[in-house]
Amino acid sequence: MLKFRSVAMLAGVSMLGAACGGPETQQESEVKPTWEEFQANAYREPWEGGKIIVNGDEALESEEELAAYFKNVVQAELGKSQDGLAVYYIGGDIKWSSTQKLNLTYCISNNFGTTNKAKMVTAMANATAAWEATASVNFTYLSQYDASCTASQTGVLFDVRPVSGQSYVARAFFPNSARSGRNVLVDSSAFTSTGAWSLTGVLRHELGHTLGFRHEHTRSTASGCYEDNQWRALTSTYDRASVMHYPQCNGTQTGDLVLTSLDKQGARSLYP
Ligand SMILES: [Zn+2]
Repeated sequence: MLKFRSVAMLAGVSMLGAACGGPETQQESEVKPTWEEFQANAYREPWEGGKIIVNGDEALESEEELAAYFKNVVQAELGKSQDGLAVYYIGGDIKWSSTQKLNLTYCISNNFGTTNKAKMVTAMANATAAWEATASVNFTYLSQYDASCTASQTGVLFDVRPVSGQSYVARAFFPNSARSGRNVLVDSSAFTSTGAWSLTGVLRHELGHTLGFRHEHTRSTASGCYEDNQWRALTSTYDRASVMHYPQCNGTQTGDLVLTSLDKQGARSLYP
C-alpha cells in the first residue's frame, strides 16, 4: 500500500487512477507507456538518497534501475496467469533465507515525535504479529537504535521513518533491496486520513512487501492495475480481498487491510 488507500485513498485514488487506468482501458496495447512517459511519471522522493517509486509504493534505487525495470518488466509481455498471494520473482523467489526470516530487525525513528511514535510502536507490533502468526517469520524491534534510525543504521535490517507530503501513505521494500533502500517510510497522512484503513492495516500491507509479496492485483489484467509479470503465484486462486490488493483496483476488501485465509495460505507456502 504503500501507496494510497481508501480515503486515504483520497490522495492516492487520483494517482492510482492515472497509473492504473480504468477497467475499460485494459487492452495491452494501451497499458504500455513509452519510456519517456514512464520516466516522466515515475515519482522521485525529493531528498538526497531518495528512491524512485513505481507501482505506488515500491522503491527502485536509481535511474539505471528504472530503465532496466522499464525494459525488462514494463515492455515485457503481459503475464497471462490468473492464479492468491504472489511472491516477487526474478529467476527465483525474492525472499529471506531460512535464518534471516527469523531475525527481521527494525528500529522506529524518534523523528515521529512522541505521540505518533507511540502509535507506530503499537501498530508495528500488531502488524508484525499478524504475519508472525501465520508464517515462519519473526520481526524484532530494536528500540536502542531509534535515536539514529536511518537508512545507514547497520544495527537493524530495516528502518521505519516518517516523511511528509509524499504521493503514498507508506512505502516499503523487497528482500533484495540494499540496506540503504530497506526502509518503511510512513507519510504524515497515515496518521490522519486513511479512511477504512488503520495504521496497523497499512503496515500489514507494507510488511507484506518486505517479505517479498507483490500486489495481488498484478495477477489480473481485469483489475485495471496490472503491473508486470515478475511474480510467482503462491495459491491457485486470485484473491480480490487480499491484504496486498488495492481496494480501488476492483478489489472486494471494503474495511481495514487484513490477511485473508488465502494470504495466510500463501505466506505459509513461502515461509513454511
Ligand atoms: Zn503495496
